[in-house]
Amino acid sequence: MRTIRLRRPRLNLAAGLLWAAPYSLLGLLVAVPAWALGARLRRVDHTLECSGGALGGWMLRLPNRHRLVALTLGHVILGVDAAALQRLGTHERVHVQQYEIWGPFFGPAYLLESLWQGLRGRDPYLANRFERQAYAKGGPFTI
Ligand SMILES: [Zn+2]
Repeated sequence: MRTIRLRRPRLNLAAGLLWAAPYSLLGLLVAVPAWALGARLRRVDHTLECSGGALGGWMLRLPNRHRLVALTLGHVILGVDAAALQRLGTHERVHVQQYEIWGPFFGPAYLLESLWQGLRGRDPYLANRFERQAYAKGGPFTI
């Protein structure tokens, strides 16, 4: 598995953590209850991975025609199970970088991009530039 290791000055890391903090807090609001209900928490570099337990069941019930098996919220990566996080880790870490760049604007930018692609008759997920970047850097994977 290819992993993205970020080497950068501490100030940049701190700025990225702070800039993405609103989404990371949202991720923690999911991860902490999930952990209390049996999910596994694991720190990987400057991210927190949460997988398994009841979280896996919740995620599989969410409506998503591409079948949601992993989701990144700031520096928190949620996954159906540990295998999903291992398989999708590089892809999800590209999203972490996107959160660090876009900060609080990432959510609206992602949604507007999906809307724009949908209005153009394209797949709102696969044609989304943020997903295309994550697929390009994170490599292809199978669900
Ligand atoms: Zn993605």
